[in-house]
Amino acid sequence: MIPATPCPVLYGLRGDVMDDLPVAAAALETEDRDRWAIFLTNQGTDDHILTGGPLVPSRSYVVKGTVKNRARRLKGGHLLLDLDTEYGPLTCAAYEPSKGFRNAFQNLIPGDGVVVLGEIRDEPRVLNSEKLHVTFLAEDIEISNPDCPVCGRKMKSAGKGQAYRCKRCRTKASKTIETTIPRKLEAGWYEPPRLLPQASVETAEAHGRCSGPYTSIVEYDNRHNYIRYPCTSETRETSWRKRSYSARSGRP
Ligand SMILES: [Zn+2]
Repeated sequence: MIPATPCPVLYGLRGDVMDDLPVAAAALETEDRDRWAIFLTNQGTDDHILTGGPLVPSRSYVVKGTVKNRARRLKGGHLLLDLDTEYGPLTCAAYEPSKGFRNAFQNLIPGDGVVVLGEIRDEPRVLNSEKLHVTFLAEDIEISNPDCPVCGRKMKSAGKGQAYRCKRCRTKASKTIETTIPRKLEAGWYEPPRLLPQASVETAEAHGRCSGPYTSIVEYDNRHNYIRYPCTSETRETSWRKRSYSARSGRP
């Protein structure tokens, strides 16, 4: 294994059991490495999320609520969604770069149960959504006028609260037609990929996103003085340049 970038970090491994990590690292074939370290990490554990109100701007919360209406699309693709929450009415925002995440927001309908994690923004007051947990899917029922039993045409409402009738055949019907629309959304967790690096997806799933902690190991490339000197931006830049040079000159 050889990193494709001039970064001084050779690779990182993440695991649930600390003692497994050096064993797994020894099994990997890599360039020579200088040193390694094991870190206890809270990445993906949502440690920064507060679970109780009142909601204060610039802080992150987990908010449970019921969807009030379908998401509104703003210029640039942002979505706004109104919720009834344990803290009162609250608008959640989902932004453009996270397409899959926005799709989940887009497919929510009134009555759906959600838990949203994110930071409260002051003006306008919205919850900048980072993660979405769909906990309950309401039935999506479309109501339409009945068809005429004689000629098959759509019947017209005879007025508010009154029966339906076919103008041509003069048949009457009192009931609307309710059609259940299949939902395009499943219950579960949705989050923008940028918040969860590919490599840690499995681990995060194993932890149900909100528990933890888990452990990571990072091994450093021996070509660089990254650790030996105080890590100033200057030493870091120098070692990156060196690396870029050796990559260009074709040495492994
Ligand atoms: Zn008819």
